[in-house]
Amino acid sequence: MYIDLHVHTTFSDGSFTPEEVVIYAKSKDLAGIAITDHDTIDGNMEALNTGKKEGIEVVQGVEISVEHKGGTMHILGYFIDLTDKGLITFLEKLQNGRQERNFQILKQLNNLGIEITYEEVLERSCGAQLGRPHFASIMVEKGYVESHKDAFNRYLKKGGPAYAERARYYPKDAINVLREAGGIPVLAHPFTLNTRTQQELRAVVKKLAHFGLMGIEVYSPDHTTKQTENYLRVAEQFGLVVTGGTDFHGANKENVDLGSLMVPYRYLEMLKALKTVK
Ligand code: AMP
Ligand code: ZN
Ligand code: FE
Ligand code: FE
Repeated sequence: MYIDLHVHTTFSDGSFTPEEVVIYAKSKDLAGIAITDHDTIDGNMEALNTGKKEGIEVVQGVEISVEHKGGTMHILGYFIDLTDKGLITFLEKLQNGRQERNFQILKQLNNLGIEITYEEVLERSCGAQLGRPHFASIMVEKGYVESHKDAFNRYLKKGGPAYAERARYYPKDAINVLREAGGIPVLAHPFTLNTRTQQELRAVVKKLAHFGLMGIEVYSPDHTTKQTENYLRVAEQFGLVVTGGTDFHGANKENVDLGSLMVPYRYLEMLKALKTVK
């Protein structure tokens, strides 16, 4: 029995709708998945309902991008109360920040000779939380780049010529709001933190644990075996639960298939054991 605890849908930058992704998970014989869209919880209800209908366990979740100097920090939140007012307000602020940033990315792409209109981007996103993978898809389609990877490497990656920053919260605030909403905060794909030394990594995790972090996403397709082993040790050192997921985006991220990491079901059981009643 395998699970995948990091899945995006069309409510952020995945290419499968929540219903489609749950049905796809079932076709892959997965025992459970978690929906972790960027800065929105709006895809969860549809996924939960499909899960009930199809008989596959669906965990409601979210992925929040927070401030982190020198790299990228994402905090996953599992088992959040979808009606929590504090969380909803918090996410609305992030969504507004996204919109401002997207205008800037578009302008910069246009200045670089890439002809994309805001209408095209809107059409592509169908009301979703717009992210860079949406821009990348259009760039591939229009032949400006060869792949998503190419779009990021040449234009969209942090520090790239079309990159734009957006307003973010501090890790402490994201962890707090997730805990207040009855959720379990987990550090996503720690390799993106870009920590250069073991001490630096431990210092970051120690701080997060102090803020109330409860887990680390040790299993991720982008981690080397050595990194995975290291993150396992760090999780153990700070008493954090271990999770794993593919960061599935469907066609919006090449070479990653749902469930391909074969994360055993017991990790979901350990996560559930931490579930708090608000
Ligand atoms: P955004 O929410 O707009 O910041 O976009 C974040 C998403 O972009 C992530 O979930 C990744 O799927 C994708 N992404 C970020 N950096 C890269 C990269 N260097 N190459 C490919 N995809 C990336
Ligand atoms: Zn994404
Ligand atoms: Fe992420
Ligand atoms: Fe993700």
